[in-house]
Amino acid sequence: MIIAVASGKGGTGKTSVSVSLAKALADSNKKISLLDCDVEEPNAHLLLECREISRSEFNVKIPSLDLSRCTGCGKCAEICEFNCIAIVKKRAVIFPDLCHSCGGCSLVCPEKCIKETDSKTGEILEYNAGIIHLVQGILDIGKAMAPPLIREVKKLAREEIALIDCPPGTSCPMVTAVGGADYVILVTEPTPFGLHDMTLAVETLRKMKMNFYVIINRADSGDDRVEKYCTSENIEVIMRIKESIDAARAYSKGIPLYDALPEFKQYFILNSNKIISRAGEFK
Ligand code: SF4
Ligand code: SF4
Repeated sequence: MIIAVASGKGGTGKTSVSVSLAKALADSNKKISLLDCDVEEPNAHLLLECREISRSEFNVKIPSLDLSRCTGCGKCAEICEFNCIAIVKKRAVIFPDLCHSCGGCSLVCPEKCIKETDSKTGEILEYNAGIIHLVQGILDIGKAMAPPLIREVKKLAREEIALIDCPPGTSCPMVTAVGGADYVILVTEPTPFGLHDMTLAVETLRKMKMNFYVIINRADSGDDRVEKYCTSENIEVIMRIKESIDAARAYSKGIPLYDALPEFKQYFILNSNKIISRAGEFK
């Protein structure tokens, strides 16, 4: 069972909600792999007491070119969907930072002058946090290609329930992170920005034909436009988490919503079981 926790924008409390759901499920004796796919800024580990159990480099294949054999035929540039290759003065020029590691250019080169070589783009760490198995991808600073790392983090899910903490936004990293999930939980906040970015996320998920629900964080602050939008779009709000200055103080000390207040703990336990049963409906 795979549940993705996403948000149209950053700062909605997505990671605190992901960690809180994982802790609530763990306290109900469910085995969880929490996959931190927010690889540009992974911070789920900061909200858990965890012990590192493994760390490895993550490499992608990028093309390297033997210019002495390049004839400038342009076949490599033609096949590259990502415009990573240009032909300049009858020689190929590769822009590796744009490369998606599809391997196409090396296959089509008639002179066999393109080879694939390993390039480090990040790291993958695994932790034990009680019975929660946490996997974290960290993209190296300056690297742009998050999707291959996200796919690798997702492959390491080992427990019956995988909870994915997705990157914010609606671009390739978010699409890669939510892909294949039984359903998506969109965490938003009742503000104009929260509504604007949630509508983009809703459009993206509908195009992907994915099932989703909404959690409104700090639900009693802001205005009612998110609620009205969800009603008009027939989107179920599965949790409403109230605003709390104590929760904000706790978060600043690395304490997730689940541990911030006893009433939050009860609320998450109750709703995490509802969330699991909903995932079963989509199987
Ligand atoms: S491996 Fe694929 S994405 Fe990368 S340069 Fe070659 S064709 Fe383009
Ligand atoms: S396909 Fe090979 S020979 Fe042709 S331009 Fe590209 S690298 Fe050069």
